[in-house]
Amino acid sequence: MLNVKNLTFSYHKTPILKELSFKVEKGENLAIIGESGSGKSTLLKLLYGEYDLNFGNIYWKDNEILGPKYNLVTGYDFMKYVAQEFELMPFISVEENIGKFLSNFFPKEKKERTQELLEVVELTAFAKTKVKTLSGGQKQRVALARALAKQPEIILLDEPFSHIDNFQRRSLRRNVFKYLKDKKITCLVATHDNNDVLGFADNMMILNNQKIEAYDTPKALFKDPKTPLIASFFGEFNIINNKIIYAHQLNVVEKSNLKAIVITSYFKGNYYLVEANLDGEKIFCYSPNNYKNDQIIFLNISN
Ligand code: ADP
Ligand code: MG
Repeated sequence: MLNVKNLTFSYHKTPILKELSFKVEKGENLAIIGESGSGKSTLLKLLYGEYDLNFGNIYWKDNEILGPKYNLVTGYDFMKYVAQEFELMPFISVEENIGKFLSNFFPKEKKERTQELLEVVELTAFAKTKVKTLSGGQKQRVALARALAKQPEIILLDEPFSHIDNFQRRSLRRNVFKYLKDKKITCLVATHDNNDVLGFADNMMILNNQKIEAYDTPKALFKDPKTPLIASFFGEFNIINNKIIYAHQLNVVEKSNLKAIVITSYFKGNYYLVEANLDGEKIFCYSPNNYKNDQIIFLNISN
């Protein structure tokens, strides 16, 4: 469906992405992961045709996505892109923004569609509110709904929940990703938040040093993180005897030959994150118990 071959791009002389090749199937959710500056936003913009590639091709089905040199008007009907910095019409209402690109020839359909999307992004109560009076998070939700209004075949989301507070993020994320799956809309989402990935992404791509460092299911990458960068995406980890050991794999036991001295414990809700010194190295483990600073603990590695 989406077929990217040898995509290579630089801003002026600075190379950003080098020879990326990957495919995304219809209805698939692909997460694009990487540190800040790794090129996630640039990749989405290239897929949208915002810039010309130095080398390589992008196809959606039989259409080649072309940059401004070969395509005067950026954007395609089958594809929507919600940028990190989104633009809305500030002086009209939420529902007018969402319905902006829907035809007025079908007022009933337009109304129903707008209602449906207001529910997906949980803004029904704000339908008549002028966008300029909304918070950043509410605006982000309007931008999402507007991108979905004409039901694209593929949607590119850049950090789609970054402005939305913790209270609403979880349910919004579930609504939006469920909606996309139900409608079989292919979705590429750039993020650095593992909550946007776990439970939602079919596959994930990790960008690092201009390349795809890893490309697999979240489960496979979580179970066997080949590099510290991959492990760091999933949570706190240690390197013990050259192996990556997540904090949750390191348990405090009665007695073992891994003796550590507690530095600090952090309350994390249903567990404590314990920072300790193991043979001169700082390590992290999880524990149901709180330990005092300088207390001696014994550790065991589980799978
Ligand atoms: P990410 O979204 O992963 O944080 P970006 O794609 O925004 O990364 O940026 C990748 C690199 O490209 C960064 O080093 C950034 O400074 C640079 N960059 C981004 N946009 C531009 C631009 N318009 N002109 C020049 N350099 C840019
Ligand atoms: Mg970005």
